[in-house]
Amino acid sequence: MVMNLPNIDTDYLLNFLTGLLNTPSPTGLAMPGIEFTERALGAFPALSLNRTRKGALLATWPGQKADAPRALTAHVDTLGAMVKEVKSNGRLKLTKIGGYAWNTVEGEGCTVFASRGQALRGSLLLSKASGHVYGKKVSELERDDDNMEVRLDARTSSDEETEKLGVRVGDFVAFDPRVEVTNGFVRSRHLDDKACVACLVAAVQAVLTAELQPAQTTYLFISNYEEVGHGAAAGIPPGTTELLTVDMAAVGEGQTSDEYHATLCVKDSGGPYHHGLNQQLRTLADRYQIPYKVDIYPYYGSDGEAYWHAGGDVAVALIGPGVDASHNYERTHLEALTATTQWVMAYLLEE
Ligand SMILES: [Zn+2]
Repeated sequence: MVMNLPNIDTDYLLNFLTGLLNTPSPTGLAMPGIEFTERALGAFPALSLNRTRKGALLATWPGQKADAPRALTAHVDTLGAMVKEVKSNGRLKLTKIGGYAWNTVEGEGCTVFASRGQALRGSLLLSKASGHVYGKKVSELERDDDNMEVRLDARTSSDEETEKLGVRVGDFVAFDPRVEVTNGFVRSRHLDDKACVACLVAAVQAVLTAELQPAQTTYLFISNYEEVGHGAAAGIPPGTTELLTVDMAAVGEGQTSDEYHATLCVKDSGGPYHHGLNQQLRTLADRYQIPYKVDIYPYYGSDGEAYWHAGGDVAVALIGPGVDASHNYERTHLEALTATTQWVMAYLLEE
């Protein structure tokens, strides 16, 4: 048993997180996020890195023992969209990738990754956006697939002109994260779940800097299809006995979670998590005085449950930092990130 957890390099954590947040990786086009994480973990020779055929990143970290391997997972894929239609006015109708409401990205800048590799800038607007032209309709019109459109920052007013720019049905669209770090707060889109990928990477860095080794051989599974429900359904190595899912905690009215604690989620839309592993995580948090909450998330599913649904015979638990306004313009605080990283380290080092 370690007496004190290793120190976390919070500059390293925030630098990695900011870089990852600024790397567009909507589900289906998440490879840049995988590559960014792979470059960071590649600096640690103790880990061996592999990609699954589906494109996830699997890091294997040999432990003091290998008789009961453990896995931790977090996802780099984010909410996003895809071009559904090139409209006759040259603007783009979108289809959503992942679960969110259009009003959460209304007015946001975006990048369209066109079919021939070029990236075009634009913004997502209501089709009747001008207050001087449409009056009350600007507030009254329903924000649905038909009423939202991308205005490209390019000279086009017809479908032919837009298609000449290389834009096609099926092109991916990423919304700007608008990352800002102030007074320990991190405000950005897609803290779900890049914040937790940063916690995992910072935990690896801290444990290795302290010249420690995980108690058991440990797999870090960086998933790339979580937001559509099947990220960790495949790719966790056979023989794994426990899966600790690291994903954001839902903050809001009636929730115990907040931006200054890590949360243990004991139940979400997929039902209860593994009681035995939950109890072990509470014991660890108490022992190391990690600031934590216990909560239930009303509209939430995780990659741990994806693995359970796929037949994974392991104990699954879920921890993560409190994120305000999730699947919207999100925010968390360094205190929640630190608590989550400490909890990950406590779990890694626990015999
Ligand atoms: Zn998530």
